[in-house]
Amino acid sequence: MPKISKWVWLLAIAVLLLGALLICKLRQPQAVYYKMSVEEIDRDIRQVSLQSWSAAERVDYYSSKFLGAPYELYCQGDGPYARYDRLPLLNLREINCMTFCEIVMALSLSDYYIDFFNILQHIRYENGIIGMATRNHYTMADWLPANSWCLDEVTAQIGGEDCRSLTRTISHANFFAGKGIDDIPVMLPDRQMAIDYLPFAALLSHEQDLHSGDIVALIMDGQAIFSAHMLLLIKNGDSTVFRHASMSAGKTVDSPFAEYIRAVQENPKYLGMSFMRLKDRIDWDSHSSRHGKFRPTIRPISRWEWQALPARATGRQHEIRSVVVHHSGVEYTGQPDPKTVILGIQRYHQEENKRIDIDYHFLIDLEGQVYAGRPEEWVGDTETDYDPTGHLLICVLGNYEVQKPNEKQIASLAALIADKCLTYRIDPATIRGHRQLTETLCPGKNLQDWIDNGELQRWASERMRWMQ
Ligand SMILES: [Zn+2]
Repeated sequence: MPKISKWVWLLAIAVLLLGALLICKLRQPQAVYYKMSVEEIDRDIRQVSLQSWSAAERVDYYSSKFLGAPYELYCQGDGPYARYDRLPLLNLREINCMTFCEIVMALSLSDYYIDFFNILQHIRYENGIIGMATRNHYTMADWLPANSWCLDEVTAQIGGEDCRSLTRTISHANFFAGKGIDDIPVMLPDRQMAIDYLPFAALLSHEQDLHSGDIVALIMDGQAIFSAHMLLLIKNGDSTVFRHASMSAGKTVDSPFAEYIRAVQENPKYLGMSFMRLKDRIDWDSHSSRHGKFRPTIRPISRWEWQALPARATGRQHEIRSVVVHHSGVEYTGQPDPKTVILGIQRYHQEENKRIDIDYHFLIDLEGQVYAGRPEEWVGDTETDYDPTGHLLICVLGNYEVQKPNEKQIASLAALIADKCLTYRIDPATIRGHRQLTETLCPGKNLQDWIDNGELQRWASERMRWMQ
């Protein structure tokens, strides 16, 4: 046999081996998030956060992790403590068109799993406050305006003069009535709203104006609603697809751009599309992204930071068994600054009341910032005659007989309570206001309301579930 043919044989075998290897590699199940554990997903998010990818690249990557995920219209709710919808707060195993977009957005903005979970609540709920009344139900009317901290509405920018406008009346009252809910305590009034959309006929000529990662609402004909479906637009080289959790396909799929538009265009129910885009610079400082119920960590301002006076003596040790909420009882609107106020309270407790230290273990200002007070392991004091042994005393600055606690304060209070309930193995259902233990107005009726209606306990419980 001539020498050359031996090399040809070897080469052929090498090519065959390489081909076999490639096929094996392709047949390996793709690491999809709906089949991965929380630890695996956490590891993956941390890896991605180290890459210098654009928002569009992250949206492409994370959305691909849900290709094939089973579709389920009812897959996520307000969690097990909710009043109305007790489906899980997070479900990565099944997905619908809205949760798909929300989850991908939250992942794209996150550095690790808990971060992702926190951000997801801010995308799904007005100010991150979990509940049926605060959930961003309507894509165009609720969800888009509530997410202006991370999204821009770009339909007019894309479509220019080809855009059309629609005006409709959005009614939460009707929405909830349709769900058989008639006892929502606080509800938005009916709102007349206008949106821009791009009719299908014009859409095909604007393909080049769309960005990969754009979030798309399929606009429908009708009276009381704008959006029928939510999708992501993904561009890879020459290919443009809509990536979406499809009810008819029963899973998350890629639908080629022109093909999909032609299909929906044939249905007179649909009019066109509206577009949203992740901001280049996320407004992390806006109210809705920073002070949610799920603010990941509570770092109290330490005693030296507010220049506390030293304790006059060592306190009596105790074992914490419950949490009691107080207010300072003096109306407070921010002046003087909280550190001065807290120092004033300490001085009063030490000098006038002859106490060893400030009465409370923690204090919360108007911004929801937490301050460390008397060491937790020492029994606190109160102005009244009950024995606070075993109680963790948290004081909210202000007089809540007259003023109302704001959302940042409640969020911090819930977060602090959750931290402490976990540390001391306390059931958050046992949280009390000072007035439940003795004759006093403290912590004021407007703060006590949050305890009486169970809302504060619910927030703390929810948070604990995700911290364990
Ligand atoms: Zn009190």
